[in-house]
Amino acid sequence: MPRFLSKIFSVFGKILSPPLCVICRKFSEAEICPECMRLVIRAKKDQNRNSGLFTYGELYYYARYTGPIKELVAKYKFGGQMWLGKCIGNIMHDYYQDVFPLYDYIVYVPVSKASMKKRGFDQCFEIVKQISKKSGVPILEVIRGNSGKGRQSRLRRGLRKENVTGRFAVREDIPDETLYALQGSKVLIVDDILTTGSTLRECAALLVDICGCMKVDAMVFATGRTDI
Ligand SMILES: [Zn+2]
Repeated sequence: MPRFLSKIFSVFGKILSPPLCVICRKFSEAEICPECMRLVIRAKKDQNRNSGLFTYGELYYYARYTGPIKELVAKYKFGGQMWLGKCIGNIMHDYYQDVFPLYDYIVYVPVSKASMKKRGFDQCFEIVKQISKKSGVPILEVIRGNSGKGRQSRLRRGLRKENVTGRFAVREDIPDETLYALQGSKVLIVDDILTTGSTLRECAALLVDICGCMKVDAMVFATGRTDI
């Protein structure tokens, strides 16, 4: 399409569906408008987040789970607005864009079957899909929820018995190539909200101990904690 035509289309597109702030829905070029942004407490990029909460590596978060960010997450997770996953992915990507090239793969924390049934989508997957698209870092689906039913009989070659840590496990159906690729790799594990940190620790343990990843860092959208 000639450049002038695509410019015309983009102008018309903006008139028909102007960019809106994801929180207050007022006109805004940025995902979050300056007015809402004033109430967002973002992580300082150079702060030391090593509070002992996540000893595997770096721990990044975008903002504190309060005010507009809490509102946004509520709309996304409990209001069934799946499209907001893309916006959250954009926000995380743009804030930490220098960080993503450090990783070979992105791994995400999968939702439980119960939440998936209730919500109809995997909130973390929608976020990482956008991060992966913008950063070019591929997603590997490595972790599954552990229903507690014990699938030892289906354990495949190459995965040891301690495959299961609490609520999570390494998927038994991942291809050999994926397991091979993970060995010695640098992985960023992504979740939406950080509270106790146990989810990230359990998943990181699987990635390091079972999959042989060399480096595992973690990133979440928001946290209610004030000690990191
Ligand atoms: Zn706003």
